[in-house]
Amino acid sequence: MSSTPRPIYLDYNATTPVDRRVIEAMMPCFGEQFGNASSAVHRFGWEASRLADRARETIAAGIGAHPEEIIFTSGATEANNLAIKGVARAVREHGRHLITCATEHRAVLDPCHALAAEGFTTTVLKVDAEGVLDPAHIKAALGDDTVLVSVMLANNEIGTIQPVAAIAEICHERGVLLHCDATQAVGKLPVHAASLGADLLSFTAHKIYGPKGVGALMVRRSRPRVRLLPLCEGGGQEQGLRPGTLNVPGIVGFARALELCLADMDGEARRLAALRDRLEAGILTQLDGVTRNGSVEQRLPNTASLTFTGVDGAAMLAGLDEIAVASGAACASADPKPSHVLLALGRPRELAAASLRFSLGRFSSATDVEVAIAAVVRTVMRLREHSPLRHTERGGRPRRAP
Ligand SMILES: *Cc1c(COP(=O)(O)O)cnc(C)c1O
Repeated sequence: MSSTPRPIYLDYNATTPVDRRVIEAMMPCFGEQFGNASSAVHRFGWEASRLADRARETIAAGIGAHPEEIIFTSGATEANNLAIKGVARAVREHGRHLITCATEHRAVLDPCHALAAEGFTTTVLKVDAEGVLDPAHIKAALGDDTVLVSVMLANNEIGTIQPVAAIAEICHERGVLLHCDATQAVGKLPVHAASLGADLLSFTAHKIYGPKGVGALMVRRSRPRVRLLPLCEGGGQEQGLRPGTLNVPGIVGFARALELCLADMDGEARRLAALRDRLEAGILTQLDGVTRNGSVEQRLPNTASLTFTGVDGAAMLAGLDEIAVASGAACASADPKPSHVLLALGRPRELAAASLRFSLGRFSSATDVEVAIAAVVRTVMRLREHSPLRHTERGGRPRRAP
């Protein structure tokens, strides 16, 4: 373990710490109430089943759905896969065309593309410079063969909110189902599945101060009743759509986490928006060559994505050891790829890599924001001072592939 202090956490869109009150709610499920919710013949099973039922009611009410419309999964990735592959496979005789959007999470884009092996084609629609998808593009892309449209509610990298209700209306006029990845919106914005018009809606506990490994897919059960096929076969739980022993501790924690977010959603949104605005203003007033990514009006209250011209993205991240933020490049591999979301906004590759995403949350303070501003300003100034990009045309540095 290193002895330097832990950095300030500003990466809440990646995951959140579990709230102490959520842990407390989960504890009995690891103790006396450890039963299998499918054990219908004794008290241990009944107790577990009652806990899961109550959590299901809380979660359904929290997103404007019916308890029977909630299918528990291992998270939003699985929920997205179940929605997209599940619907496509169930209706493959009616059509083989899907529509999605260039700024979707990989957990939507990849399942759509994977369905190519089963004869499906996917239209990936462009967004404008702020990351907004024009509903007219959906209308134009819908064909007789289209069976599903998947559009997220709020973007995880730039925070842009999509006009999902307008998109739903267009889909329904044509009898096409709409799936919405609402992972970043649930708990931060009012999300009412029925008024949004989403037929399927994904979300996850670990982005809202709940545990990792539990999420849900809302599947509309009437007008229209959505038909889908499971990804796995097994014990028949969750209406056969997601068989396997229920993760009762996770589900109980998920419900408590959502309840806590909803209890003070407006107040917390205002607090975080003020901190986020201060963060942006602090950086923008002290540094030139900084641009904001995403929509300034239609966006999440907690997210800021900034691009810094004239600095190397990797060097910037390496210099920022006081704060934990996300970069505009997926650094899962040795060769970092610029974010597909920033590229979709029309940012050149080098600039996409020289971007940072700050996402604030429940435990972020005004002091954290001031430390972050100072760290970013200092690091960017230092890098620009020494940057070969500044004095010579990339002199001395290997040129990145265009
Ligand atoms: C985090 C995230 C996911 C993946 O959720 P998991 O529960 O980690 O699988 C999917 N979509 C969006 C928009 C996300 O932010």
